[in-house]
Amino acid sequence: MDLSYSPDEEAFRARVRAWLAANVPAPTARQDLEALRAWQRTLHAAGFVGASWPKEYGGAGLSDMEQAILNEELARARAPGVLNAMAIWWVGPAVMRYGTDEQKRRFIPPILTADEIWATGYSEPTSGSDMAAARTRAVRDGDHYVVSGQKIWTTLAHIADWFFVLVRTSTEGPKWAGLSLLLMDMRSPGIEVRPIRQIDGGAEFNEVFMTDVRVPVANLLGQEGQGWEVVSSALINERTGIAGSIRFDQALDWIATTARAQGKTKDPCVRQRIAELVTKAAIVRYSGMRSLSDSLHGRMNPHLSAAMKLTSTSLTQEFSETAMEVLGPYAALMDDPRAPSSGRWAKQYLGDRSMTIAGGTSEVQRNIVAQRILGLPRDRGTTAGKR
Ligand SMILES: Cc1cc2nc3c(=O)[nH]c(=O)nc-3n(C[C@H](O)[C@H](O)[C@H](O)COP(=O)(O)OP(=O)(O)OC[C@H]3O[C@@H](n4cnc5c(N)ncnc54)[C@H](O)[C@@H]3O)c2cc1C
Repeated sequence: MDLSYSPDEEAFRARVRAWLAANVPAPTARQDLEALRAWQRTLHAAGFVGASWPKEYGGAGLSDMEQAILNEELARARAPGVLNAMAIWWVGPAVMRYGTDEQKRRFIPPILTADEIWATGYSEPTSGSDMAAARTRAVRDGDHYVVSGQKIWTTLAHIADWFFVLVRTSTEGPKWAGLSLLLMDMRSPGIEVRPIRQIDGGAEFNEVFMTDVRVPVANLLGQEGQGWEVVSSALINERTGIAGSIRFDQALDWIATTARAQGKTKDPCVRQRIAELVTKAAIVRYSGMRSLSDSLHGRMNPHLSAAMKLTSTSLTQEFSETAMEVLGPYAALMDDPRAPSSGRWAKQYLGDRSMTIAGGTSEVQRNIVAQRILGLPRDRGTTAGKR
């Protein structure tokens, strides 16, 4: 593993750091939809969204190392995330990899500027981990597919313009072989979006019902029957994105501040817990650097993203569990004037529960690590069609 940076990379870091110091919104600034859209546009204008994407599609053509430096500096500056993160992490890369020239020209630019927001439709009421069992049916009718079925847990469907949706185009052969990926206009007749209320009071994900929705064949991504391959590669990007988006340095600061505010910094149990978190956060950070180094040297096992997602999401839960213990019984208060830290740890604790489920559960990630990294035999309950 090579941890050194070249003079050009250090110069790039200095440029990014100076730009962020001048442009990152204050922590008190509003973070509603339009504010986040404006922030993504500002970042994009500076060349910091889709930074490693080719210039011909509106990216900045930066190297993977420069993208990694940019990510570090965004985290260091406590910059807000981008509104269209799902599209940046996996929809855009999938369109660039599998799309026609026409699809690339049509869909990539508005992803970068957040003019068009994307939702992802894999999960169904009867197929989550076993995604290959998707039943949403797409039947060819001339130059359209007619789509009927239901998706669930669809993040951002209530504000999305487009849907990256997995559909069944054939019932012949193995179940994964009959899947295809469509790019569906969310304003098409026949789509109904129903929000799902979450335990933390928010409603960021939804059920999506599709009844005879007509999608032009020109919006098929890749070939008919290639959906499983498209989604498998998108899931690797999703796991990498989830793992990379968790900011442990920031969480460590918050937890140390919380322990100080509660007068618990002399409690040996609390000190021990925090020391463990610091150690584990460092391990996750160095694992990330090792995989970056592997990727730069062309020896990256793409399934390492499962291990990174597994460890970082489990660790983020340990952080919020520790904070709740440090805060004591008042920690359970959320929307209450007596809630410590304005209820931020309570919200974080509840939100973190979902992290080991979204993008594939921890059990499924362990299966991937066992089979695809360690080369262990498949467990008898596992079929080829698991996330
Ligand atoms: C915050 C959040 C956002 C999400 N956003 C989206 C989205 O935008 N689009 C989308 O399509 N989906 C989304 N999901 C859904 C998510 O991908 C699924 O919830 C997840 O894949 C698990 O599927 P499931 O809920 O059907 O559980 P199931 O697959 O029914 O699993 C139930 C339990 O069985 C275990 N299990 C299943 N198979 C195995 C196995 N082979 N070996 C061992 N254990 C197993 C699981 O680990 C789990 O504990 C989101 C979920 C969350 C929490």
